[in-house]
Order: sequence, then C-alpha cells, then structure tokens
Amino acid sequence: MRKVNKAKVIARAFLKDKSNKPNWHKERLEICETCPLNSKNLPDATVIDKMKPRCSACGCFILEKTSQETEMCGKADIGEEPLWPALKVETSSSSNLDLINLSPDKINVDLNKDYYLVNYGDTKKGSDSLITLQFTSKDSLEPIECKSTCGCTTPAKPKLIDKNTMEISFSVRTTRASRIVSTVTVYYNVNGQRRNVKIKVNAKIVD
Ligand code: SF4
Repeated sequence: MRKVNKAKVIARAFLKDKSNKPNWHKERLEICETCPLNSKNLPDATVIDKMKPRCSACGCFILEKTSQETEMCGKADIGEEPLWPALKVETSSSSNLDLINLSPDKINVDLNKDYYLVNYGDTKKGSDSLITLQFTSKDSLEPIECKSTCGCTTPAKPKLIDKNTMEISFSVRTTRASRIVSTVTVYYNVNGQRRNVKIKVNAKIVD
C-alpha cells in the first residue's frame, strides 16, 4: 500500500479555500507559529520567509501544509517526534482502505508499506490510552473481528459505522512491559471477500 501522491496533496492544498478554518487547522497553525523550525522564526529569516513562512524541516509552506488532514508535522521528516499528527491516511489506490485517526492528540498513525503504524515514541509508564481508528472504503465493508499479538493492546469488537466505514478501538496498557511491539489485526469482508489489515503499535515505556 502507498500513500496518496504528494503532488496531489500539494495541489489540493493550494486550491483549497482556507478562509474558514476548522479548529484542527487553527490548532496546527498555533503550534507552527512559535516553532523554531518555522522559517519566519529562524535567526537569518528573509522578508519572504516572514511573508510566506515555510517549515524548514520539510520545506512545505505552513498555511498549505497545515490545511491538509493527511499531513503531519514536518519534524517527522527529520526523524523527530512530530508536534501534531496526521488526521487521515489516504492510500493511492481506491482498492485499499483509508484511515481516519480519531485518537487523542499526538498519537501518530502512519502507513508503512503493508501495515499501519501507531508510533508512540517514548511514553510515560501508566499513561494508558484508547486508540480509535476508522477505516473507509468505496466498497461495502463488513467487520468480523480484531486480534492482538500481545496483552498490552486489547481490541474491542470492530463496529460498522455505515456501509463504507468500520471503526476499531483498542486500549494500550503501559504498565506491563518496558517496550510495546504489538500487532492488532482487523479481519473484515469487502464485497464478500475476506481480508485483513494490520496495525502495529510501537512504544518505549519510560518512568
Ligand atoms: S510543521 Fe512542525 S516542524 Fe514544521 S514549523 Fe510546524 S510545528 Fe514546526
């Protein structure tokens, strides 16, 4: 599976009417405003850097980048923990499932070849959380079950939201081990054919 083409995302970002911003867009802009990697905050910022700020980590224009649900903070491009997550992962092929991230702020979900990755990075012991993800398809979906490889991630029965959307949730327990490397597999039918999608969870537990 591959993510939607970056050129398509950029084109959409420039064409989008950004005058009436949803809250998630405003929140991202607030974070970027004070970020040291914002080109306008660099010590050697030019007039252009100040008029039309870019993220110096990924090179994107900040107003456009933050307007796209599929984008995540540019820190991810330089191997650092992103300051805001992607709200959606869109695949390039309509035969694959797209993902909507309904989890609490900063839980970062991305696509990694043939699985989705929930990457916590360093997580404080005891900071358990509930991950909620929706998968969408242009075809009819019928969720069957979710299975986990480890007791640190306990999935609930997947729910059908509408004929093209299913929702899964699982709790992540950070008190059982010093590292979580777990896989949740969602089994479902699409147009009567049995399929599965994997979600890997990665976290290092710190005191
Ligand atoms: S996208 Fe992230 S790294 Fe780039 S300016 Fe905004 S907060 Fe900073």
